[in-house]
Amino acid sequence: AYVQGARYLAALNPEQRAGVETLDGPVLVLAGAGTGKTRVLTTRIAHILATGRARAYEILAVTFTNKAAREMRERVEALVGEGVEAIQWLGTFHAISAKILRRHAELVGLKPNFTILDTDDQIRLLKQALKAENIDDKRWPARALAHQIDAWKNRGLSPAQVPAGEAHSFANGKGGVLYALYQERLKILNAVDFGDLLLESLRLFRERPDVLAEFHRRFKYILVDEYQDTNTAQYLWLRLIAQGRRNLCCVGDDDQSVYGWRGAEVENILRFEQDFPGAKIVRLERNYRSTGHILAAASHLIAHNEGRLGKTLFTDGALGDKPTVTGVWDSEEEARAVGEEIEQLQRRGHALEEIAILVRASFQMREFEERFITLGLPYRVIGGPRFYERAEIRDALAYLRCVSSPADDLAFERIVNTPKRGLGDATLQLLHEYARRESVPLTHAARVLTESEEIRPKPRATLRGFIDDIERWRALSETKPHHELAETVLEESGYTDMWREEKTPDAAGRLENLKELVRAMEEFPDLSAFLEHVSLVMEVDEAAGSERVSIMTLHGAKGLEFETVFLPGWEEGLFPHQRSLDDNGRAGLEEERRLAYVGLTRAKRRAKIFFATNRRIHGLWQATMPSRFIDELPAANVEVVESASASQYGAYGVSRFAGLDRYSSGYDTPGWRRAKEAKSQPQGKRAAPPIIEGRVLSKSTASAPFEKGARVMHLKFGPGTVQEVDGDKLSVAFDHAGTKMVKAAFLERG
Ligand code: ATP
Ligand code: MG
Repeated sequence: AYVQGARYLAALNPEQRAGVETLDGPVLVLAGAGTGKTRVLTTRIAHILATGRARAYEILAVTFTNKAAREMRERVEALVGEGVEAIQWLGTFHAISAKILRRHAELVGLKPNFTILDTDDQIRLLKQALKAENIDDKRWPARALAHQIDAWKNRGLSPAQVPAGEAHSFANGKGGVLYALYQERLKILNAVDFGDLLLESLRLFRERPDVLAEFHRRFKYILVDEYQDTNTAQYLWLRLIAQGRRNLCCVGDDDQSVYGWRGAEVENILRFEQDFPGAKIVRLERNYRSTGHILAAASHLIAHNEGRLGKTLFTDGALGDKPTVTGVWDSEEEARAVGEEIEQLQRRGHALEEIAILVRASFQMREFEERFITLGLPYRVIGGPRFYERAEIRDALAYLRCVSSPADDLAFERIVNTPKRGLGDATLQLLHEYARRESVPLTHAARVLTESEEIRPKPRATLRGFIDDIERWRALSETKPHHELAETVLEESGYTDMWREEKTPDAAGRLENLKELVRAMEEFPDLSAFLEHVSLVMEVDEAAGSERVSIMTLHGAKGLEFETVFLPGWEEGLFPHQRSLDDNGRAGLEEERRLAYVGLTRAKRRAKIFFATNRRIHGLWQATMPSRFIDELPAANVEVVESASASQYGAYGVSRFAGLDRYSSGYDTPGWRRAKEAKSQPQGKRAAPPIIEGRVLSKSTASAPFEKGARVMHLKFGPGTVQEVDGDKLSVAFDHAGTKMVKAAFLERG
């Protein structure tokens, strides 16, 4: 096999080769987009296998998405050739942790068939916890609590480890108590949430040195892609597992760190050298992906960030086409323009597979989807509203979960009265009380209560029938293939009939989805493998092989590449996203800019930026301004072009954007003016004044105190009255937009 090796090594430049061939000891590859970091990882795995340094099952490789794992597996197979053993330990942090926990569940107080909760279940459980503590979930929403708990978990903190000050953060000091309560409930349910997968395996490593040593022995080589986006819990996990042999290779790019909101810590890059002294640092500077103008535009844009490790990038390739910037009237015209350009590309023979639309927020997707449906243009949404999240699929899965694990209360709750079986709230209440009192699963409680007089005869009979059914299906699962079992369960429970009888227009689609579910199950060896897959998949709905345009979020596009990339919605408020600016100020802005950098650097040959001057956000039309990121692109590398379909909108579209040239005096809007003013300022980093929709607030206005009852004007939410003042944050009851917390900097006296 090693003879072949010469070939795969020859496809690398000297620095990349160093990253591949330095097999002993820690290696950190720190390099910009498109420099071949992922290629280094893939080749490294191939090299390890080809040189016989380790067997496939002795390699641990962490990727950022399941899709990336799949691609890496395929690429390694292509490099090493036929007969390569499956690389079992290649996947996301979550998938790998789940696998570790299944093996050692008992050691952390779980049973091996534990359930992995999705967000919906998590919220439901938290609502129960809030109720148990008599906390009003209108005032303190379960989602906010979920966010807080996730943040703790991302930092590797169990309830006991949460610093006292922070535990008091939620619901007048109940944060810590609720977190503990939630964890208790999870234990009883034999369930974990996503954060727990990591946290529990981390705990396992810490508390059981013997188990950790076993993994040290097993994993001869460890590799991590997209290292810049690891959070603290993941970092601690990695450090523990890698400290055995220290053969750890991480690749990353600080400029592509875009998960700060999920707890990612770029500092982990800096920590690497401390925790793994003597690490070899590899820097790659040649970009193989994008043509010159695209790379120049992206590099120039990201140079506006202050907090950077800094690096240079060059390409030997052609300059290619300049990235384009196009202004359109609204999101509908945007979708129309993008659709037309794609059809043109298609006519010229470009593959749809090589075209992507990268949006900042998923709500932007719908307009493109509708347009593409109209045009008959095949597309797929990656990571979007997913198949497995549809209500009918979740119901069906709940049935299957119930059959597979008797302790799965959340699943039981979801289906006990779906379809309607005439079990009233009173009956369910009794069930819950009994289950809580005796600390037993709901199915168990149901079984006991069917023998008692506490429930009236009719519901009691219904309940007994239902429990009998579940037990019968469970027995069937021993003998029947799992997909046939699924069909039986859905038929016998009356669930399929429920949709057959339903006369709503979408019922037919739901029945099709249920069929699709059964079909999907056939691809898995058994029910538990299937359920495991469902709880882990991030990208589904992947009609393999067929030619389609991809629609996805910028976050989801990390690591991918396409010939042509459309970047719609480059408007202030949407991109940079207002929430990032409000919540995290300068750091938020820099993270948004990194996201813009990620977007541009996905493009191999064509990058097409769009902004609309009107957009409906949360149901309200708003006049918008071009994103400041457009201002920040280097004029020499960017071309402003008119929308192909602007003419349909008559004078407005054309006159406003034809000949748009922000470096001439012809174009005069506050946004461009601001850009020019800023450019004419003395050099040096310019401070970012609070800007919304192109208006700059003077410092004095921004910091002027507002008293309770004052009438104010918010540039986005309009007029309102101050309700409460808390430092620079205010609660304002807006006349049209409801009550919101806003920063004083964004208000004017009304
Ligand atoms: P990102 O930061 O976006 O994840 P990356 O650094 O992981 O990018 P890769 O995806 O590995 O970059 O590589 C980018 C492109 O360049 C790929 O198409 C890859 O095949 C190609 N490439 C990488 N190295 C070389 C090389 N030495 N010769 C030719 N092509 C290369
Ligand atoms: Mg990569």
